[in-house]
Amino acid sequence: MSTRELLMIPGPVEYLPEVLQAVGERSGSHVGREFIARFGCALKGLREIFRGRFAQPLVLAGSGTLAMELAAANLVEPDDEVLVVNTGYFSDRMGLLLERHGARVTHLRPATLGEVPPLGEIDAALAMRGRYKLVTVTQVDTSTGVLAPVEAIARRARAHGALILVDAVCAAAGEELRQDDWGLDAVVTASQKALGVPPGLAIASIGPRALEVHRARRSPVRAFYCDWSHWLAVHQAYERGELAYFATPPLNLINALQTSVGQILAEGMEKRATRHRRMAQALRAAWRALQLEAVPRREAQMAHTMSALYYPAGLDSSLLTRISEEGVVVAGGLHPALKARYFRVGHMGAVGAQEILATAGAVGTALAKMGARVDPSAAVAAAEEALERSE
Ligand SMILES: *Cc1c(COP(=O)(O)O)cnc(C)c1O
Repeated sequence: MSTRELLMIPGPVEYLPEVLQAVGERSGSHVGREFIARFGCALKGLREIFRGRFAQPLVLAGSGTLAMELAAANLVEPDDEVLVVNTGYFSDRMGLLLERHGARVTHLRPATLGEVPPLGEIDAALAMRGRYKLVTVTQVDTSTGVLAPVEAIARRARAHGALILVDAVCAAAGEELRQDDWGLDAVVTASQKALGVPPGLAIASIGPRALEVHRARRSPVRAFYCDWSHWLAVHQAYERGELAYFATPPLNLINALQTSVGQILAEGMEKRATRHRRMAQALRAAWRALQLEAVPRREAQMAHTMSALYYPAGLDSSLLTRISEEGVVVAGGLHPALKARYFRVGHMGAVGAQEILATAGAVGTALAKMGARVDPSAAVAAAEEALERSE
């Protein structure tokens, strides 16, 4: 390709030029005033992004999985009971790593992939055991494109005295998320998804109840590097503008995070969630015009940061190559039970109408070239119309 392809996968995403420029800046000393000020500023911004004024944001080198692992390592002790509200592959992963840290994990799965377990079943599961220490939920499971009702699930967990841990890796800074108002005890994410920063940052926001549970542990956290105590101390110091050291931070990525956080807050959280909604709705109109069926069964449970779509009958992953020949990169399947039957499109971060229309056009053209009886221009028109209607 002579022109650059447009990356539309569920993370990593396309980055704003200002963010990429920040990655390349000379970063100086990791305990210098200038860097500490930028780190502190990024952390204060994250409080607004998570809407967690009473929570402590943490940022360390690693991917989203490390942020999940830290939460597990710090919140559970051997034989603690955990309920995983399971909506796909990343809920399975949360269960696996909780078990690795000694938890007894019960998975509550929906009848069919592409659904959320009904709230009534979550109530029943919580009432039956009555002693879950922790409930986990994946806000957007990137393997199914399912959006879980985090607020409603958190309310139930709290009513039963359990902590609530949210995997918001594919949601934070894209979907609506209100840590304080919804009473979320720990929220984890990563840089390369809707936060719009290159991969390499594990991010978390730890609420007061989770901090309390962590402080009251009977046994020490088993991995020195993973112990929140060190990270809490150093992050609190950064926010106060004090020079502090625990482990060398990834300076260039932190600088990029500070830049991206600034852009996100300049847009405003309300507007940002609305834009993700609009873009998702426009793409849904295109998918309908192309007769593509989504993995999530219900409209209300479809993510706004990505789409998971079944291949039409007779087509397979060779469609992805065709789409990339039209200039757009999308992702294959991830959930082992469905892997060969569907593909995924990311639409989070800095996406606007231009990217959405290009994606609708590329997917439509590729389908038509592979013999599907669809009209790519009708798909683009449907997306355009949805965008105009929601302006
Ligand atoms: C991407 C993702 C992860 C894993 O993040 P990595 O950065 O790849 O470790 C976890 N959960 C969800 C929901 C994700 O989308």
